Amino acid sequence: MKEIYSEELLWQLAGSSKVVVLTGAGISAEVGIPTFRGPDGLWEGVPPERVATPEAFKRDPQFVWSWYRERRIKMEGISFGPSHKAIAELESLFPDFTLITQNIDGLHKKAGSQNVVELHGNIWFDRCSKCEYKDAFSLELEIPKCKICGNLMRPDVVWFNEQIPQDALNEAIQASVNCQFFIVVGTSAIVQPAASLPIIAKDNGALVLEINPNPTPLTLIADWSLREKSIDILPNLVEMLKSILK
Ligand code: NAD
Ligand code: ZN
Repeated sequence: MKEIYSEELLWQLAGSSKVVVLTGAGISAEVGIPTFRGPDGLWEGVPPERVATPEAFKRDPQFVWSWYRERRIKMEGISFGPSHKAIAELESLFPDFTLITQNIDGLHKKAGSQNVVELHGNIWFDRCSKCEYKDAFSLELEIPKCKICGNLMRPDVVWFNEQIPQDALNEAIQASVNCQFFIVVGTSAIVQPAASLPIIAKDNGALVLEINPNPTPLTLIADWSLREKSIDILPNLVEMLKSILK
């Protein structure tokens, strides 16, 4: 593993035509959305299994609904940051570019990213807890009922103990297998299967760049691991790439 922000990194990236970026909560921490694993292991004050599992929703749907409702209210006023914008710009520099995100906040699309795989869903939609019906999100205090089958609606996010939608997972794996350069930013690389994607890329010959102020299980396999915040790397990296590629 090379520790420095090297010329070689820049040239290898500039010479790649198939690029994948995988993002996690760290990138949205920069705009004030808390990451998942705080030092106390709580997610905005509650243990994740109380609010982010199908079992929790079955046990106490109103509690889960109200918790997500509060998160939506908090997130509504937050817009994307320089790192989201840099990733959207990165997309325009490569002929084949896929952004895979574990974030549910929808900020990448708002920043202009187009080819986005939202592995864990999107908090700005609701879906039926029983059938396939989807709708725009609701801020009603009372849980809305499905317009098709009458069952309770829920946020369209993937909870712990739930499967990632097959289409999204296939797309993410396909892009990881095919890419030449894989950038992983702001994820603790603990939640599976997202954490395996850089390994799949590496096994298929891609170079891996990690950007994270803290080491992760991926640090060992990364070709470059930059112990920095994404805001201190990505906007700069894009500017340097632009000057090489123009
Ligand atoms: P995580 O909270 O487990 O890890 C966050 C990582 O980001 C840590 O490794 C941390 O060192 C790093 N980090 C913190 N600040 C950073 C910065 N400025 N630049 C770069 N890295 C930084 O997050 P995860 O790995 O994404 O897994 C959390 C799970 O919870 C995901 O499944 C996700 O769906 C969900 N989640 C989503 C959001 C969101 O949508 N914004 C927020 C919290 C949790
Ligand atoms: Zn339904």
